[in-house]
Amino acid sequence: EAALDDAFKTLMTWADEARDIGVRANADTPSDAKTARNFKAQGIGLCRTEHMFFDEDRLTVMREMIFADDPADRRTAVDRLMPIQRADFVELFRIMKDQPVCIRLFDPPLHEFLPGNRAGMRDLAEALDLPLSHVERRIEALSEYNPMLGMRGVRLGITIPEIYEMQARAIFEATLDAAKDGAVVVPEIMIPLVSAKREVELVKTRIDAVAAAVRTERGADFDFKLGVMVETPRAALRAEDIAPHCDFFSFGTNDLTQMAYGLSRDDAGRFMSAYVQQGVYPEDPFHTLDAEGVGELVQLGVDRGRKAQPGLTMSVCGEHGGSPESIAFCRKVGIDYVSCSPFRVPVARLAAAQFTIKDKIG
Ligand code: PEP
Ligand code: MG
Repeated sequence: EAALDDAFKTLMTWADEARDIGVRANADTPSDAKTARNFKAQGIGLCRTEHMFFDEDRLTVMREMIFADDPADRRTAVDRLMPIQRADFVELFRIMKDQPVCIRLFDPPLHEFLPGNRAGMRDLAEALDLPLSHVERRIEALSEYNPMLGMRGVRLGITIPEIYEMQARAIFEATLDAAKDGAVVVPEIMIPLVSAKREVELVKTRIDAVAAAVRTERGADFDFKLGVMVETPRAALRAEDIAPHCDFFSFGTNDLTQMAYGLSRDDAGRFMSAYVQQGVYPEDPFHTLDAEGVGELVQLGVDRGRKAQPGLTMSVCGEHGGSPESIAFCRKVGIDYVSCSPFRVPVARLAAAQFTIKDKIG
């Protein structure tokens, strides 16, 4: 078994020497981050921060913030969330040590944070110490016909700026705290579901202000990067406007596929096998990224983004980042790294090497 272990390690070392595309992992818990490190991911490519708020006690504070009518109440809830987030990030930074960590700002479909029935509303009213009528009114105001195309990602960040400001502060303070323990990270802050340049300008201005405040308060300096998820077709098409405000783009190919096909990622399973069997789609487009359709949007986004900002780092962090055929495509269009679930990292490293060698040697 030890010999097999050694052979595997040697093979992976060769793979890493051969490949010319990076592999990071998607991770939002300490356990995922540890798995990512063990599998030799080159950092975290996507930390989905909304997942950090699903625990019951955190969910209550998050709901307090969402349900607040009064900005002062919202502020109080946000102030309670900040140290919780800061501790989350310190832990991730300590695990990842000197490796890059890309943190995506809150990207909920809002309905995931709302109770789904009357009993839930009653419990929530009690937990938040609010009249049931207030909770009902708020839920009515917040409910959406199509939450996946509604108040998601940066739209929530623009509407309730306190959330992103809180997260930026937590990231910056965690960077300084983790540095005291020798974890030197340059955090990468990522804005989700962008579709317009102005969204990036607004969020960037607010984040820069938070960075300046933390530097003054702490009397210490730190570096960070700012980028966007390119996961709406419009963001890919308008990449030239958006790029000058960014250090990186990360293609969220799950949403990009959903929006390019007009096909709900949560419902596609119902007819996917019929479609693939009858040759309508050569393969499940949520699994394989190719040069037709969604891949064209990625190519376009890479080319237009780099035209405006040549040094832009490009990555793919949707499910496709862990599928070998998609990795081959990503290499061809100039993606710098893919980010996939931690357990797919070894497969991605091997696939990346295989396609690099095939391309160079033939
Ligand atoms: C994506 O849309 O591809 C993505 C990575 O984000 P999420 O799956 O969290 O929407
Ligand atoms: Mg997405």
